[in-house]
Amino acid sequence: MIEKKNFYINGSWVAPKNPKDIQVINPATEKSCAVISLGGKEDVNDAVLAAKEAFKTWGFSSKEERLSLLESFYALYKKRWNDITDAIIQEMGAPKDFALKLQTGTGASHTKSFIRYLKEFEFEKPLGEHAKNQRLIYEPKGVCALITPWNWPINQVTLKVIPALASGCTMVLKPSELAPLSAMIIAELIDEAKFPKGVFNLVNGDGATTGDALTSHPDVNMISFTGSTRAGALISQNAAKDFKRVSLELGGKGANIIFKDADAEAIERGALRCFRNSGQSCNAPTRMLVEKPIYDEAVERLRKYASEFKVDDPNKEGEHIGPVISETQFNKIQGLIQKGIDEGAKLVAGGPGKPDGLNDGYYVKPTVFADVNNDMEIARTEIFGPVLSVIPFETEEEAIQIANDTDYGLTNYIQTQDNDKVQRVARKLRSGMVDVNGAGIAVDAPFGGFKHSGIGREAGKEGLLEFLEVKSVGGWN
Ligand code: NAD
Repeated sequence: MIEKKNFYINGSWVAPKNPKDIQVINPATEKSCAVISLGGKEDVNDAVLAAKEAFKTWGFSSKEERLSLLESFYALYKKRWNDITDAIIQEMGAPKDFALKLQTGTGASHTKSFIRYLKEFEFEKPLGEHAKNQRLIYEPKGVCALITPWNWPINQVTLKVIPALASGCTMVLKPSELAPLSAMIIAELIDEAKFPKGVFNLVNGDGATTGDALTSHPDVNMISFTGSTRAGALISQNAAKDFKRVSLELGGKGANIIFKDADAEAIERGALRCFRNSGQSCNAPTRMLVEKPIYDEAVERLRKYASEFKVDDPNKEGEHIGPVISETQFNKIQGLIQKGIDEGAKLVAGGPGKPDGLNDGYYVKPTVFADVNNDMEIARTEIFGPVLSVIPFETEEEAIQIANDTDYGLTNYIQTQDNDKVQRVARKLRSGMVDVNGAGIAVDAPFGGFKHSGIGREAGKEGLLEFLEVKSVGGWN
């Protein structure tokens, strides 16, 4: 049993003030794989104080110093690749190959990308040729509360911690209490890389106590949060009281518009993108909109694909999905599958219950519903499980209307060989990202959403700018 009860505060691992232990459950076995402690208000106060003190010097550190420390961190990250992968497999049930390449891979690629943007970034520059005595100075926002979810644990942590470090902010990270183990390795790496004490702090805990203490703390200047739209709204209310800056990456209900001239792999590729990570990705294309002339064929192909889609133990190599994160999440997904049946959607593959032979662990059958109406709950709610809703459409206008008829606006998808159509439709979709014909969104492209999917952007240059305030100085000679 792994014991990870301490918090990383002011450069040391310290015991919680009032220990409140919880088990970290491995979702593939339903058994405990580690014990952590939940932080209280006093632990949060200590961490924020450390960050506040450290900001006095780190906030004025040179770009060269930050670059050199980040390069050390990057080298150490690559050495601990297998440990990070093992932690992710245990804490959230990501299958071995997927965890190794994609989950752990994202941490390395974000770190490398932010190092590149930091090298290029001009923290001071004139407003322009026309106004040389007008100076723009980009300064770190200050003490940041970084709160992350469990579904892409290292991706989310590095999308926040690395640009915060690069910009000169100091921080308190509160990873998800369901998947804290990989984030604790990041704390070990920051320690080993020798960032000054207090720059980075980690306090484990839940949302209601630890998260709330952090986001309502008067010395926190900025909150960067990824998680549910529900928690995002609560955090925004805390932030509004004293005008904390907020960056929110929330849920999604992406539409994947399959026109009749889509490429040969579009249908199966769309289902794979929905099922991957057991459906636990905010940008998953969970509503597949299919043009009428190819609708029946698409449904038949999806039936076959989903029925044969492998679900298995995360410790096994190969292409399959593992369990979902928790019993609560399993029950929520089962309830929504039942709701789809009750609402009259046509169950084409999967359905309620666990896949054959997988009785221990929170495994869900890859499920496809056809003849879904966009007003049904399965088309509106973010299910966060491997459940695809297929909706027919007749015209381009109707497809755009259905795609945009959602509270969310994170990623939408277009499949067609007609480039004019791609550009017309991409311009009309109300989402932060549009992925065309499986091209993918680059690691350093701005990541974030419209509407209830959030505020602000992560990754690349925009991700760095989120942690900076801009100051205008007139009369700079
Ligand atoms: P969650 O909101 O329950 O928890 C996320 C984090 O917030 C956890 O660390 C949790 O402890 C904390 N938290 C919860 N309530 C809080 C509160 N009131 N105050 C402060 N902190 C609080 O979400 P989750 O179930 O862990 O993650 C799944 C959700 O995250 C999904 O809705 C998914 O779409 C979203 N997500 C979005 C993105 C994105 O970039 N847009 C990426 C990944 C996940």
